[in-house]
Amino acid sequence: MKINLISDTVTVPSAGMLQAMQNAQVGDDVFKEDPTVNALEEKVAKLFGMEAAMFFPSGTMANQTAIKVHTQPGEQLICDHFAHVYNYEGGGVSFNSGVSCRLITGNQGRITAQQIEEVINPTEFYHMPKTRLVCLENTTNKGGGAFYDFEEIRKIKTLCDKHQLGLHLDGARLWNALLETTEQPQDYGQTFDSISVCLSKGLGCPVGSVLLGSEAFIQQALRIRKVFGGGMRQAGYLAAAGIYAIDHQWEDMRQDHQKAKELAEILYSCDYVKKIEPVCTNIIIFSLLDSANELNFVEQMRQQDIHFMRLGKGKLRMVTHRDYTVEQHQVVLSTLKKMKL
Ligand SMILES: *Cc1c(COP(=O)(O)O)cnc(C)c1O
Repeated sequence: MKINLISDTVTVPSAGMLQAMQNAQVGDDVFKEDPTVNALEEKVAKLFGMEAAMFFPSGTMANQTAIKVHTQPGEQLICDHFAHVYNYEGGGVSFNSGVSCRLITGNQGRITAQQIEEVINPTEFYHMPKTRLVCLENTTNKGGGAFYDFEEIRKIKTLCDKHQLGLHLDGARLWNALLETTEQPQDYGQTFDSISVCLSKGLGCPVGSVLLGSEAFIQQALRIRKVFGGGMRQAGYLAAAGIYAIDHQWEDMRQDHQKAKELAEILYSCDYVKKIEPVCTNIIIFSLLDSANELNFVEQMRQQDIHFMRLGKGKLRMVTHRDYTVEQHQVVLSTLKKMKL
């Protein structure tokens, strides 16, 4: 029995989701004639109180499209040094948009209004790239599933308005943050110019992301998605999974968070563990004592068929998800507890 804690993207559709996919009404979405894609887009736009939404094959394409719509070549965006848009999108910011990233060292992937203010280039000083966009990530991936205090986001919005900067949210795991905080989806919709959300992470869909924005923004995004090769035909089969997931599987993610907390508690008690990033949602990032052999640890876990990710520089990552069962969880907890390194 393979126990896969590599990522929350490893899930397969549940029986109910497969049923919903099979029963989907479909059409050609490139002609905007897929009723299920249209329904998903309307549903997510309404949920976040934003004017429009568009279905994408991946979160990367949704983010890259947003960045392309917000910027012109030569301009600069500001993000945390752990940001997915900077680290894990294949250099797309420069490849697709000709834009550079001004990096900030935040707290678990979260940056503050003050830190942003310090790196906004003065517009009149034409030697420097024009700062155009701020990208936040919530929850943070490489930062370990941390979420923002919404008051900080409000401050960042005020700053962006003052300097006429766009504000984009990479909300791949915004669903996780929404379960742990009191803010409503509309609070995010009112604050950001654009938001991307993943259906293929904790929600458990096989494929898909949604990009949200104003009517005009999504109209521009439609052209960019076409250029990027992201126009899909009978995508309603995939959109049906998204609708099903939001209605029936979102709340289940609380169990992922609970399991992550329990993993962290066991790790705290293990004498071979050096550091664990505070666990806020479904991601656990930790490192071993220098005296403990990391390869040995990975190998012993593999012998129990437990798989997780090495992020480099001694950081290890486990991600909980809906296909990580209670039985598997017990195996992992006891293996960690018994381990001698
Ligand atoms: C997963 C993820 C994405 C999108 O990834 P895709 O694999 O392209 O869907 C974007 N941002 C963050 C923070 C992510 O974790």
